[in-house]
Amino acid sequence: MEEVIVCSLCPRGCNAERTAYAGKGYCKMGYLPRIARVAPHMWEEPCISGKNGSGTIFFSGCVLSCVFCQNMKISKGGYGKTVSVEELAGHIRSLEQKGVHNINLVSPTPYIESIIKAFELYKPSVPIVYNTGGYEKAETIRRLDGIVDIYLPDMKYIRSELSAKYSGASDYFKYASESLEEMVKQTGSPAFDENGMMIKGTIVRHLILPKNTKNSIEVLRYLDNNFGEKILISLMGQYIPVGDAEKYPEINRCITAREYEKVLSELGNLSLDGFAQELDSASKTYIPDFNLRDDDLSFNDSHI
Ligand code: SF4
Repeated sequence: MEEVIVCSLCPRGCNAERTAYAGKGYCKMGYLPRIARVAPHMWEEPCISGKNGSGTIFFSGCVLSCVFCQNMKISKGGYGKTVSVEELAGHIRSLEQKGVHNINLVSPTPYIESIIKAFELYKPSVPIVYNTGGYEKAETIRRLDGIVDIYLPDMKYIRSELSAKYSGASDYFKYASESLEEMVKQTGSPAFDENGMMIKGTIVRHLILPKNTKNSIEVLRYLDNNFGEKILISLMGQYIPVGDAEKYPEINRCITAREYEKVLSELGNLSLDGFAQELDSASKTYIPDFNLRDDDLSFNDSHI
C-alpha cells in the first residue's frame, strides 16, 4: 500500500496527506523531493559563492505565496523532477565532486524528512547551507541541528499587513523571528576558513520592496537589536516586478536610487555587518534557468 504522511512541517500546519508524488497541503508537494535545478551557482553572497560556486539544489513548491516571486515556475507551477532519497544523495555527491564550496538547499522545507535521510546516506565534507524564505517552525529547524552549517533565511517583513498582502502569511514575522533565534543558536557567530569562505553562521537576507522602506528599516533595526554581530545581513536591492506584481501598482516597478540610499543609510547607522547588493543588479538575467523535468532522463546519472 502507498505510504501516506500527514504533514505539519511548516507554519501552514496543514495536517494534509502527502504521498510520494502528490500532496494535498498548501505547498501541493508529495514527500519525495521535487527538484528543478542542480548546479554550481555564482550569484550568492561572496563568502558563499566564492570562485567555484555554491552547489545549489532548487526544490519545487513553496510554503509562501509571494506575489513578486521570481521563481513562480517552480514555487507554484510545480515544475521539476521528483527524485528518490538515493538520487538526492547522489546529486549532493556529484555537486561536491564539481568543487563547489558548499551544498546549498534552496526552499527545502517541504522535504526535510527526505533531506535528513539523504545526508545519512551521504554526508559531504563541504558545509550545508539551508536557504529559506524564513517562514519556518522553530521545532522543524531544531531537527536540522548538527546537519546544517549555514542558514540563509530571508527576513522579509516585520509588518503583518504586508506579509499577508504580499506573501499570504499574516503570521510571517512571528514564525520567522522564532526560527531565526533557533538558527543562530545552532550556528553561533559567523566563521570563515582561511580563504574567506563561510563555514558556519547565519546570513539574513532582506529584499527592499518599492514604497516599503519603513518596513525595511524596521527589519534592520530589529535584526540589529536582537542579533547584532551574531549574524550577517545581506541587503538586496534587486527587486524587479515579476510574477503577479502587476496586480499591485505600488510594487509594480523597481526600487528607486532614493529608496535604496535611504535604507542603506540606516544600515550604516547600525552595528550590523554584511553585504549590500548593488542597485544595478536588478535584472531578469539573475533568475536561474530551471531545466529539470520528469522526462529528463539524463538527470538520473548520479548515484551513490
Ligand atoms: S510543508 Fe506543505 S503540506 Fe506540510 S505543512 Fe507546509 S505547506 Fe502544508
